[in-house]
Amino acid sequence: MTGRLAWRVARLADVRTETATARTLVLDVPGWPGHLAGQHVDVRLRAPDGYAAQRSYSLAAPAPADSARIELTVQRVADGEVSEYLTGPYAVGDAIELRGPVGGWFVWRPGDTDPVLLIAGGSGIVPLMAMVRARAAAASRVPFRLLYSVRSPDEVYYGDELRRRIRDDAGLDVTFLYTRHGPQPHRIGVADVNTAGWPAEFAPACFVCGPTGFVETAADILVALGHDPRKVKTERFGPSGG
Ligand SMILES: Cc1cc2nc3c(=O)[nH]c(=O)nc-3n(C[C@H](O)[C@H](O)[C@H](O)COP(=O)(O)OP(=O)(O)OC[C@H]3O[C@@H](n4cnc5c(N)ncnc54)[C@H](O)[C@@H]3O)c2cc1C
Repeated sequence: MTGRLAWRVARLADVRTETATARTLVLDVPGWPGHLAGQHVDVRLRAPDGYAAQRSYSLAAPAPADSARIELTVQRVADGEVSEYLTGPYAVGDAIELRGPVGGWFVWRPGDTDPVLLIAGGSGIVPLMAMVRARAAAASRVPFRLLYSVRSPDEVYYGDELRRRIRDDAGLDVTFLYTRHGPQPHRIGVADVNTAGWPAEFAPACFVCGPTGFVETAADILVALGHDPRKVKTERFGPSGG
């Protein structure tokens, strides 16, 4: 599938700090064909000796109609070959290679009409935020609920924007769940999904994204609560290098 996609040269146009260890990269990608919320890109770094490292990163925002500009949000992983570069030395004006958009299943289209439940663990918020933003950009009235599990309040990505959207985006509900520090820290459980999600009989489209263990737990809870497994779409942010 990705074999057909051409590698393109992207240049870093801007950077936004999300947390102490994550940043959003705003990239100019000449010839970018556009994408859907939920899709990702493959990024390739090449050393002068020809050694190459490739990783996947979700698109954090919907494609603007009039520019070849995309956004990725990268979490620094300790000793991570690619993420340490992208969150550190990679500077405005520098080039990287990328190809995409990749993935046609874990996507939300602005014409979709089912209620939506988004469940994010840590950096799994990235493609789900693209969906929240795509909903707003399309002035969609589809009700969205986001359950965002993160270690502590200072590890929340897009915090100011989420607070603004909670206030301004009618039909968007956001629930934060802290696993280590913050009010009542705990790991996601049935009660969280029951309270912050939709009843199964509403037949929502469910999107779950985050580390593999988190995704499996959340998807199991949804199915145990009666959600149709075909409507529970998952994306695992496990190691993607090769
Ligand atoms: C479809 C898809 C979309 C993704 N989207 C994003 C995104 O939007 N933002 C983002 O930050 N990451 C995302 N990832 C994860 C990303 O592709 C890399 O795996 C991550 O950046 C680590 O790469 P690295 O080269 O820095 O670490 P590596 O050099 O590959 O690994 C260093 C060490 O960290 C461990 N490790 C590797 N990846 C992870 C991880 N994800 N979590 C915890 N430990 C890890 C390895 O086992 C190893 O011990 C996505 C992954 C997939 C498959």
